[in-house]
Amino acid sequence: MNSWITLCCNTRLILLAIAAGFLFTICGCASRYRIAWGDTHGHTSLSNGQGSVDDYLRRARDEANLDILIVTDHDFGHEAPWRMPAADWDLTQAKVDEYTVDGRFVAISGYEWTSQEKYWTEVKTNLVSDRLFPGPPCFYNHKVVYFPAPVAYLFSAKDPAYKSPDLLAEAVRRAGGLIQNAHPDSTVKGLNQFDYAPSASDVIVNTEMSPDVVYDRATNHPIRVEQTVRAFLDHGGRTGFVAGTDTHEGKPAARTAVLATKLTRAAIFDALRHRRNYAVNNNRDARMTNQTGSPEADCCGSKYPDQPGGLEGREGQSPCAPG
Ligand SMILES: [Zn+2]
Ligand SMILES: [Zn+2]
Repeated sequence: MNSWITLCCNTRLILLAIAAGFLFTICGCASRYRIAWGDTHGHTSLSNGQGSVDDYLRRARDEANLDILIVTDHDFGHEAPWRMPAADWDLTQAKVDEYTVDGRFVAISGYEWTSQEKYWTEVKTNLVSDRLFPGPPCFYNHKVVYFPAPVAYLFSAKDPAYKSPDLLAEAVRRAGGLIQNAHPDSTVKGLNQFDYAPSASDVIVNTEMSPDVVYDRATNHPIRVEQTVRAFLDHGGRTGFVAGTDTHEGKPAARTAVLATKLTRAAIFDALRHRRNYAVNNNRDARMTNQTGSPEADCCGSKYPDQPGGLEGREGQSPCAPG
């Protein structure tokens, strides 16, 4: 998208009327930023989406008119032996480099760390266990992981070395990447989704916001995203907000606004790392709030130090200690 908008903040709270009629509420960030619109979560035929990586990147750039696209296929790929082949991961990384043009379009290679109940031996339903890890299951939900530069291979939720959010965070931190909590879920599927050390918020920087009810396989699923994320924040959790279509039909769209100094991959990572981003539903609504949803406090996370704790009320319900 070419509608770059320069924002200049020099007081705690400034209202700026912008071209296109948008009103921006910006606070505290004494610098110049531009808004870049992106989709931070979506699939191609490398996992269970439609269309090639080329199709997805072209649609994002030329039809959805995005500035940023993160390609995030499942870590398990799309067929037996249910691990993304190294060649597919390499292809993703090569394609994002091919399509990235500074100042025009930034593509980023990522994947969806897809933890599943069936990976543990003592599954509580009638699921057949993949028997990857002994003991009762952890319900870590999914996390979107992405990198500014190529890495040898992704860190899969099926690998014991990366099976928990803390282990994943450690590896991704070393590789210079970032993580976002995917589709927060109030049901048992999300029971352990925020079970990570507060210090991991330096790399698990953002959380996806999405509708409270999702429709999947002819069924409505009430996942109560806002309530779930508010509980995390209320108990000391630290996060910024992003969104993605999580499209499986090859239809990316603007769901996240990123305040970056310029449209380069380095600048976009810097913005996401410092939570200069917000989520929208269905339009490019340029209204910014901070992690509490309040526009009055400082933005960018600086006023929200890490606190010990985690999710009260969930303690004792799970064997999934951080680590
Ligand atoms: Zn997912
Ligand atoms: Zn997904």
